[in-house]
Amino acid sequence: MKRHLTRHALGWPRRVISAEWQGPADLPQSLTMEWRLVFVRWVGVLAVAPALPLMHLPNNRLIASVAILVFAIAYNWSVRRYIQRRPDVFANGYLTTVCDSFLNMAMVLVGGGFDSAFSYVLFTVMISVAMRYGYGPSLAMTMIFTGTDAIEHVIGHQSADAAFAFRTGFLFITALLASYLRSLTVKAEVALHDRLIELQRLYSDLAVAHQELLSLDEAKTNFLANVSHELRTPLTSIRAFSEILQSYPDDEETQQEFLQIITAESERLTRLVNDVLDVTKIESGEMDWRDEAVDPSALLDQCARTFAPLFEHSTLEFEQDVAANLPEIRGDHDRIQQVIHNLLNNAMKFTSEGTIRLHAGVQGDELWIEVSDTGVGIAAQDQERVFEKFQQVGDTLTGKPKGTGLGLTICRDIVAHHGGRLMLDSQPGRGSRFSIVLPVPPAVTEPIALPAAA
Ligand code: ADP
Repeated sequence: MKRHLTRHALGWPRRVISAEWQGPADLPQSLTMEWRLVFVRWVGVLAVAPALPLMHLPNNRLIASVAILVFAIAYNWSVRRYIQRRPDVFANGYLTTVCDSFLNMAMVLVGGGFDSAFSYVLFTVMISVAMRYGYGPSLAMTMIFTGTDAIEHVIGHQSADAAFAFRTGFLFITALLASYLRSLTVKAEVALHDRLIELQRLYSDLAVAHQELLSLDEAKTNFLANVSHELRTPLTSIRAFSEILQSYPDDEETQQEFLQIITAESERLTRLVNDVLDVTKIESGEMDWRDEAVDPSALLDQCARTFAPLFEHSTLEFEQDVAANLPEIRGDHDRIQQVIHNLLNNAMKFTSEGTIRLHAGVQGDELWIEVSDTGVGIAAQDQERVFEKFQQVGDTLTGKPKGTGLGLTICRDIVAHHGGRLMLDSQPGRGSRFSIVLPVPPAVTEPIALPAAA
């Protein structure tokens, strides 16, 4: 109980002391030191006030000391009151340093001169100045104190004694030591600040990397989910039709029909697995790319010859406009061919009437290969999406042979590997034009006009 009361009784002084030392919560960092010096001055006043009567000073000196003490109280009170309102005046600490110096010198002189107990005050002031400003100001102040001390000796016709030498020597040593400590603190603060900045930078790098990992992880999960889903559809049909086949052993026509479905679904499955393999290999950097001289004219001619027969029994027209002397490029012949096959396949899939064109020419130092059609087209908001994995857009797919939704992703990756770009220009209902732009090695660039666009 007694202990509790004592703790309770000590509660408020502790709170007051702590509040006076810490200062208000919104106190700017630059004023912390000044604020704490206010506290230190109060401690000084409280220490000197009761000591004055015990020093047996002559009356006139005692009155002067009390006056200085009253001035000190008023001065400290003003600093405490205005420190936050005029931070510009107080933050640099010059004003309080000058005032403190004069106040303390006055106290020392009135209280019995430098050769009295009051001279200890000088050390306190010195340390506070050294800790605030370092070597220069603290040594300057030491010289002022020592000079005043010396003048007092001269006026009093005293010779410099051992006490004078001690005071002077220790004042200088104290100034140097305190300033050294300050320089260490400043250095540590700068290092800490640098580390903090570095840490903040590392933290934000880490946050970015974390975010990238999260989205990569999400992309991987989506990819797996999509692949499984896409694999399940043909597998389910193959399984279902195989099972039904077993119950129609004698009906040859139905058997043929089901076998055709099973073959088509198996082909789709193979395509899907190949596409997935291509995407994963390209994106993980494991694709074996060939680096060979490629003759674009021959390559496009070969593509055209592969596709031409498909148009023979179709209402669609195929137009080929490829210059014969296109400059050689470097790259993987088969992969570039794969891109053109894919674009031509898509053009056929999404066009029911009109023309499919294959153009090629050179513009500047770039080879342009364009596949255009007069098909369903792609809405503006879907034009970027069609290059993403498993993206099949529009509702025009009904009745069309289903793809994997990976074709354009692979095309863009292949073109990008060759340092080129794959672009799309399309208008819904009017058709689409896919342009492959590949760099031509400078030595072989020749001006060949690009045929008129679709
Ligand atoms: P898919 O194997 O499904 O064709 P792609 O990545 O090649 O996958 O194409 C993605 C989607 O882009 C297609 O499903 C289709 O919606 C659209 N698309 C591609 N080419 C054309 C085109 N020539 N005309 C209209 N839409 C197209």
